[in-house]
Amino acid sequence: MSDLEKNCIFCKIVREEAESSVVAENELCLAFLTIGPFNSGHTLVIPRRHAVTFTDLTPAEVAALAQLSQQVAMALQASGLPGEGFNLWMANGSAAGQDVFHAHMHVFPRLDDDNFRVEVSWPNPPRAELDEVARQLRAALEAAR
Ligand SMILES: [Zn+2]
Repeated sequence: MSDLEKNCIFCKIVREEAESSVVAENELCLAFLTIGPFNSGHTLVIPRRHAVTFTDLTPAEVAALAQLSQQVAMALQASGLPGEGFNLWMANGSAAGQDVFHAHMHVFPRLDDDNFRVEVSWPNPPRAELDEVARQLRAALEAAR
């Protein structure tokens, strides 16, 4: 086991060396309550294997993470906990706000008046610029095959 895995708080939770309140699990992923919930029921879904970001996951882990996140969202809706909606939120890299460097999907209930805010202004670039960016991305996907 690498030092990264040895010291990673989420790996410790997977190994049951750190306490957590488990919500659900599958073969590849684990879902547990965050210790810093935005709203009650705020759950983190993680791969059992140490992986830093979404792009480090295997296709099977992506599928397992998505399935478990959906199950948690359905449980939130059926649980009776307050929530008129929910968010999926995943920060990848410190620039994106990632603070624990073991990939994790936040699944959290949203209330009409809960004051959750992402301050952003969405620009409206011309089609030619969108087409050029799409071309760059298609080229990157083609090169990765
Ligand atoms: Zn880890």
